[in-house]
Amino acid sequence: MMSAGWKMMSAAHVSREGVRRTARRTKGQSGRRVKARVSVATEAETRRAKRRRVRARERVSGDGLGAILVLVTLMKPPTVQSKDSSPNQQGFNFLHHLEGYHKEQTVRGLNQLKLYLQKFGYLNYVDEDDEFDDLLESAVKMYQENYHLKVTGSLDFETVKEMMLPRCGVPDIINGTNQLMSHTKMKHGHLVSQKWPLSKTHLTYGFNSSALVVGEQVLRSVSSRAFKRWQDASHFTFEEAPQGSNPDIMIGFHRGHHGDGTPFDGPTGILAHAVGPTIGWLHYDADENWSTNPSMDEVDLESVAMHEIGHLLGLGHSGDKDAIMYAKFSYGIIKRDLDHDDMEGIQVLYS
Ligand SMILES: [Zn+2]
Ligand SMILES: [Zn+2]
Repeated sequence: MMSAGWKMMSAAHVSREGVRRTARRTKGQSGRRVKARVSVATEAETRRAKRRRVRARERVSGDGLGAILVLVTLMKPPTVQSKDSSPNQQGFNFLHHLEGYHKEQTVRGLNQLKLYLQKFGYLNYVDEDDEFDDLLESAVKMYQENYHLKVTGSLDFETVKEMMLPRCGVPDIINGTNQLMSHTKMKHGHLVSQKWPLSKTHLTYGFNSSALVVGEQVLRSVSSRAFKRWQDASHFTFEEAPQGSNPDIMIGFHRGHHGDGTPFDGPTGILAHAVGPTIGWLHYDADENWSTNPSMDEVDLESVAMHEIGHLLGLGHSGDKDAIMYAKFSYGIIKRDLDHDDMEGIQVLYS
């Protein structure tokens, strides 16, 4: 029963859901929210206003996304746009209108689904068209298999709903290796893993954010608790590095393009990502509703920290829903404890 997929990985990203959640906007400044968020509220409000305008235009015009973006770009007030703005400000919402389509149909926006599937490893390359071809059907089938859905190859309700869930930006399939498949693959030696040298058992971590989201003390204590759980389940020890030193792992909040070639996508969709051994980056999307005690429209920072640390140690995604290394995240849910699958994964990787 173990093990599903921890399997290793080499590069990572992390993600978020496509369901629009306007309610959270009004609720956002609740007392539980970390104080520091308030200081970025004005900037966040302007971004939200811009996104609302984009959605409104999309509804009335029916034009292609490119045309909408051009229009919005032309109309935007100069103070709204920053260089850090994401290329896709609506998470995975674009998937919503693709429900019901299947092979041999041509649908405007299908190209975005191809990009989505490429991002997470299900397609090797993306053609520019909106055709539901054989390759796309195979990719959808693989996705359905990985997420325990009925393998139809079509964009049925359950598949689209699953695809829209917020998630980690690290691909499910890396260099042709399906990280979510059963551990039997490991026995056949299919796994190509990157890991810390066996002699490197003590890892240091530090913080460097380009966006202010949670207070420094909050981030430090969340990280400390998360590393402690992984420490208890592995041969690693973790320690916060002194200021100014060069830690093995660097953790921070960023938004949009932030210099590593994998820009964040604004609220929902991709929530975080990490690059494992021996680069050691953990990035949280600054545009999410982070919390340390989440309500139903907030994400538990410590739960996501647990998942991303798994990547930092070399683990890939698991197909086991109970595992910390399962790629999807939930709002309002706390999931901080390692599952048997996670513990087996880390032990096998470094055995
Ligand atoms: Zn992940
Ligand atoms: Zn990043």
